Amino acid sequence: MDISSGFTDTSSPTSRPRVRFAPSPTGFLHVGSARTFIFNWLYARSHGGTMILRLDDTDVERNTEASVSSIFDGLKWLGLGWDEEYKQSERLALHRQTAERIFQRGLAYRDFTPAHTGDSEKSGAQGTWLFNPGMRELSPAESDRRAAAGEPFALRFRVPRDGLQVRFVDAVYGEQAKLAADIEDFALLRSDGMPTYHLASCADDADLGISHIIRGQDHLTNTFKHVLIFEAAGAKPPQFAHLPLLVAPDGTKLSKRRHGPVVSVTTYRDAGFLPEAFINFLCLLGWSPKNDREQMSLQELTAAFSLEGINRANAVVNFKEPATTPEGTFDPKAVWLNAEHIRALTVEDLSARLLPVVCAAGFNVEPARMLRVTPLIRERIKLLRDAVTAADFFFVDQLPPYDSAELIPQKGDAAMALKVLQRAREVLAGVEFKHDPLDGSLRAAAQELAIKPGQMFQPIRVAVCGRKNAPPLFETLEVLGRETTLARIEDAIRKLQ
Ligand code: GLU
Repeated sequence: MDISSGFTDTSSPTSRPRVRFAPSPTGFLHVGSARTFIFNWLYARSHGGTMILRLDDTDVERNTEASVSSIFDGLKWLGLGWDEEYKQSERLALHRQTAERIFQRGLAYRDFTPAHTGDSEKSGAQGTWLFNPGMRELSPAESDRRAAAGEPFALRFRVPRDGLQVRFVDAVYGEQAKLAADIEDFALLRSDGMPTYHLASCADDADLGISHIIRGQDHLTNTFKHVLIFEAAGAKPPQFAHLPLLVAPDGTKLSKRRHGPVVSVTTYRDAGFLPEAFINFLCLLGWSPKNDREQMSLQELTAAFSLEGINRANAVVNFKEPATTPEGTFDPKAVWLNAEHIRALTVEDLSARLLPVVCAAGFNVEPARMLRVTPLIRERIKLLRDAVTAADFFFVDQLPPYDSAELIPQKGDAAMALKVLQRAREVLAGVEFKHDPLDGSLRAAAQELAIKPGQMFQPIRVAVCGRKNAPPLFETLEVLGRETTLARIEDAIRKLQ
């Protein structure tokens, strides 16, 4: 006898997929989990289906409130949303009914073996019961008698030992088959009455009408157990698509303990990634769009996404170790994509996103000012928080100290710098603070002084920005205005004298 889960065509408009993202709130939101969420979401949206968020929170000893917040914070930042939301802990009655149904069919048995100290089940929970083959053979009468006497028991799946092959077709990894005899009699209910992950997950997936389970490849082998549970509970198994693992450059599985903050979604948020760029980046980890494009909007991703484009090979996140500074550690493709997405935003949109970042860094900036500064720095920033260092001089009254040697132009000396600044002080006192008049009058001044325009501009740039590497000069002066410009030139002259 074979148990198999077919992979049926869902492309017909009558079958609207129902997919779920089912995090266990036992840690922060991992980038791999975020990718699982995104792939489910894209699948739902591209097929007119339903996206479900289900908190797999039955492992009460490992759940934390901090983890629930981290998951919601991360998902909120991604901004994709979902259609339905459930908590497994509120569905225990369904899980137990499902276990009861499987038990009544003779496909599960009670295991009265007490736990050994120090030993625990693979699920990791404390005080669970160990697999004891003798329990499988207990007569129903004996089992009922011990249960009626109040002896605690776990409920185990009676995995067939008759040569049965468990099969399913994975949309990514293809035909999968395993001899049932190679699967242990796994637990459905623990001795405290709580469902195991396997039971709760399958009971909920069946009850919620999940049509496609899209999740990490680390669950591929669990799926054999799940197919057994679905069949035993009288439910048709959904279709499965397992996603390749995300790994570090050295090939190890991404983990916070080993790789630090670079595996946590909120690190990207806090470093100034745009959610659309981060989503774009995650999509390219393990999925290849047919069009071979890299930078894609959410709309383009939705239109292009398909399970067929998912690869089997592990996807490498190319961050740099050691993770000393978060900037140094990000995958260069993520940073490049972010810069591309920044440039794709309107000035208004970008400005609105930069404002809170700049304010959080301690600058007091009016929205109107941010709007004027934004076009000057948009080509110069890769992450939102780069705006703090690229534009700080627009937001302070007093420039931070800089080296007066910076004021000296190329192939010039301190005397030339001084002459330039004194002439600039005169010119800028009278000229209109608009790009063209500024440009014309400062070029004319350079000619009068018989120096190159660059030699004229550099001392002014350093005087007003505090450094050589700064946005285009005339636009910068326009935004700073006459008063600030002249005050800063005055300071620079004093430095040189
Ligand atoms: N709670 C499980 C996890 O976080 C869900 C796995 C699944 O999608 O079935 O790994």
